[in-house]
Amino acid sequence: MYNSRKKHLEEIPTEITPIWKCSNDECSGWMRDNFTFSAQPSCPHCNSSMVKGEKELQTIVNLSPTSMK
Ligand SMILES: [Zn+2]
Repeated sequence: MYNSRKKHLEEIPTEITPIWKCSNDECSGWMRDNFTFSAQPSCPHCNSSMVKGEKELQTIVNLSPTSMK
């Protein structure tokens, strides 16, 4: 007898996204580059300087109200 498997969850698209990450090894703080308006952001957790990097993140679907026409 088989238990019917739960439907496979819809795959969430991901993409390699530019981010800033905290230069402090003891801190896991990071932020998306496109959410940063400073040329050299500092970590919101420990205020250390941040370094550029990249991370595989869920794609943000930009829901613009102008597309609802
Ligand atoms: Zn930090």
